[in-house]
Amino acid sequence: MIKIFGHTNPDLDSIASAYAAEYLLSKKGIDAKAFRLGDYNKEVNYATNYFGITLDMPLIDRVEDNDEVMLVDHNEFTQSVGNIENAKIFMVIDHHKIDNFRTKEPLEYIAKPVGCNSTTIYEMLKEINAIDRKDVLAMLLSAIISDTLLLKSPTTTKKDIDVAEEIAGILGVNLNEYGYELLKAGADLSDVTEDELVRIDSKVFEPNGKKIEIAQINAVDMDSILSRQSKIEEAMNKVIAEKGLDAFLVAVTDVVNCNSEIIAIRK
Ligand code: MG
Ligand code: MG
Ligand code: MG
Repeated sequence: MIKIFGHTNPDLDSIASAYAAEYLLSKKGIDAKAFRLGDYNKEVNYATNYFGITLDMPLIDRVEDNDEVMLVDHNEFTQSVGNIENAKIFMVIDHHKIDNFRTKEPLEYIAKPVGCNSTTIYEMLKEINAIDRKDVLAMLLSAIISDTLLLKSPTTTKKDIDVAEEIAGILGVNLNEYGYELLKAGADLSDVTEDELVRIDSKVFEPNGKKIEIAQINAVDMDSILSRQSKIEEAMNKVIAEKGLDAFLVAVTDVVNCNSEIIAIRK
């Protein structure tokens, strides 16, 4: 049996690619099983709940010597399963630069410069007339939305757009509405405290002898963050006092529409 998996700390594309690749290989009569190298994230859970999909992808952290494996959505050994250097790599389907990768034997290696690996897997399923499973299509569509930030990221290609629109048509899903809700679920910061929010991604700068801290909060639903502004300001004031800052700027960035609102406090 070939073990299929995406990268560690798996995103939706790593889960969907492995899930769909299991079906792709089964259609070719190859015994294979999808695994995962980490917990399902919020986007994966949103997608599977929305479409009523139950994933059966066991968690693994290493493989045995000479295990047959297939890598999807990654190729770098540093992002892969433990003991990967002693496994037999049967196949790779990926959309990243090729780095830190070597094998002892020949293999099938598919590398496409697309925004999402699931785009390539969809095309491979279509080639063999295997786009008949709605659960597989739903996972692939969700992955394309996730990797391309709803077809808006600079890495998005025409192929990603065409495939996403085609699958949405087959499933009868409103791409923009579903996509927005999916990204929002993934960027859900409701369980993150204000004290944590202003510390997730922050740096101190010292221009002209002043001590200024700048933090960024990436959000999809900016309003839900801005509705917490007074508590965020309280948290900012705590940091100003703690670190003796002259000013603290927090940028709340809407990753879908590429806008930012700045909350700034001077000592
Ligand atoms: Mg990925
Ligand atoms: Mg990917
Ligand atoms: Mg990604």
